[in-house]
Amino acid sequence: MHYRDHGGLVFIDLRDYSGILQIVFDENIDKESFKIAKKLKNEYVVSITGTVRKRPEGTVNINLKTGGIELLAKSIQVLNACEVLPFQIDEETEVNEFTRLKYRYLDLRSKRLKDNLIFRSKFTHLIREFLNNKGFFDIETPFLTKSTPEGSRDFLVPSRLNHGHFFALPQSPQLFKQILMVSGFERYYQIVRCFRDEDLRADRQPEFTQLDMEMSFVETKDIISVTEELFAFILNKLLGIKLERPFKVLDYDEAMDKYGGDKPDTRFGLTLINLTDIFIKSSLNVFKDNIARGGVIKAVCFQNGSIFLSRKDIDELLTLIKDFGGKGLAWTKVGENNSLEGGISKFISDEEKNTLIARLAAKNGDIIFYQADSKKVVGNVLGRLRLHLAKKYDLIPKGILDLLWVVNFPLFEFSEEEKRIVSVHHPFTHPAKNDIDKLEKDPLSVKSDSYDLVFNGEEIGGGSIRIHDPKLQSKIFEILSISPDDAKLKFGFLLDALSFGAPPHGGIAFGIDRILMLLRNESSIRDVIAFPKTQKAYCPLSDAPSAVKDIQLKELGIKLLETAIKNIKSE
Ligand code: ASP
Repeated sequence: MHYRDHGGLVFIDLRDYSGILQIVFDENIDKESFKIAKKLKNEYVVSITGTVRKRPEGTVNINLKTGGIELLAKSIQVLNACEVLPFQIDEETEVNEFTRLKYRYLDLRSKRLKDNLIFRSKFTHLIREFLNNKGFFDIETPFLTKSTPEGSRDFLVPSRLNHGHFFALPQSPQLFKQILMVSGFERYYQIVRCFRDEDLRADRQPEFTQLDMEMSFVETKDIISVTEELFAFILNKLLGIKLERPFKVLDYDEAMDKYGGDKPDTRFGLTLINLTDIFIKSSLNVFKDNIARGGVIKAVCFQNGSIFLSRKDIDELLTLIKDFGGKGLAWTKVGENNSLEGGISKFISDEEKNTLIARLAAKNGDIIFYQADSKKVVGNVLGRLRLHLAKKYDLIPKGILDLLWVVNFPLFEFSEEEKRIVSVHHPFTHPAKNDIDKLEKDPLSVKSDSYDLVFNGEEIGGGSIRIHDPKLQSKIFEILSISPDDAKLKFGFLLDALSFGAPPHGGIAFGIDRILMLLRNESSIRDVIAFPKTQKAYCPLSDAPSAVKDIQLKELGIKLLETAIKNIKSE
């Protein structure tokens, strides 16, 4: 509530969830109300009756939805007062996030956060409307369950009735949704909370919301089609956008090769170009030796880079590259008549120069950045450099919704950490049909029947066709070095279910918080979640997690370690 006191008139901005309305108290209409109005403070709760009228000419506020009208008050009742605020609502000044989260109910009164949550509500409503009309059933799955092997750390819940035993909060409903297919539901969805005990980044929360879907008797193309229809429906209803369909489809290998990552931002160029063959005989030992070791040389060509980057900027990039995991960064500028200048130009022969300029379609004023290392490092470093340059020099066109599928992921990868083959998605992902006979001899070359949806360079969803044949599933466990006993222990209930006439099935899950963050142009998913936690997975509003009484621990059969007790005492 804002108020402006003009002689004989008091003006108040009254806010409810839908916006702001100007109220006028006129001393000549009701003296008592006028007196009360003069004493009102910010954020008081009031009930006012009066007459809505057009604002007098010259006082119309075109920036406000209700800027053409006002309420002439006849009476007012103060329903509640408000303490001095820890920060002003809607004020853009820097208030630290801890304080904002501690008083989340106040921050949620701000227009930005309120609009985000109302948008969220409409978004999930439209998901339900669309999927219900398509014959999907909304079925809940348990929160107290056994851990699902999604690869992250589980949140554990001790069992009071079974000392020494723990539930895990689900990382996703993966196993249960597959079991629902075995039960014959054919089309399932759920807007569901998932829990992963990971170190947090701006777009991660310990609990987050997925749109989880599963369908029977489908192939990849069916999942892709229903997803595209869903997004087209929602974005049209919510934002009036007509999405172009079908969405682009990029092969995983191509995404890695051209963009250095599996969630490429294709709204701008700066693609990675392979120059390895050009530099086989390079006079630059770093290049030559790297190729001899089996490494690659790739470059990105920053069009008109000379306009954007000074020599100092280039030097700064060299430091940044080390953060990206690169050893160094070679560069050259392109001068007149296809010449190369600066950086490593004097080590590049005329023949090498002509071929690389043609391959990169480089022109006068461009800057070329080269990276020589293993394929993995080069992709990662140049992929990150590409994003860095695009963000820093504003190369990303605004207002574009770039939705694309990445398909044909490898089924497995080798984990250096665990020194064994692991699943890229999860162990229930179906291998690509044409690759099944390569499972024994060359498992790392096998592709999977899986797909990720990428939106403006962020992965917003992913899924796969599942294995429904118990024999094939056992083979996969074998390759993953999961013994039959171990498999039985971890997810025997799914394996049992699959042996009772499971239909072919597949599904997908989308990160709702992340999608909303992108659609609302926010930089953190916390801004689209009503009660999020801090980066340290703490809730300042409720002070969770917190210590519990000894009796509670005793009931659970749990004793704290000395270090934990010390930690509590030091608080
Ligand atoms: N359960 C997977 C996930 O949470 C998605 C899926 O395969 O449907 O990422």
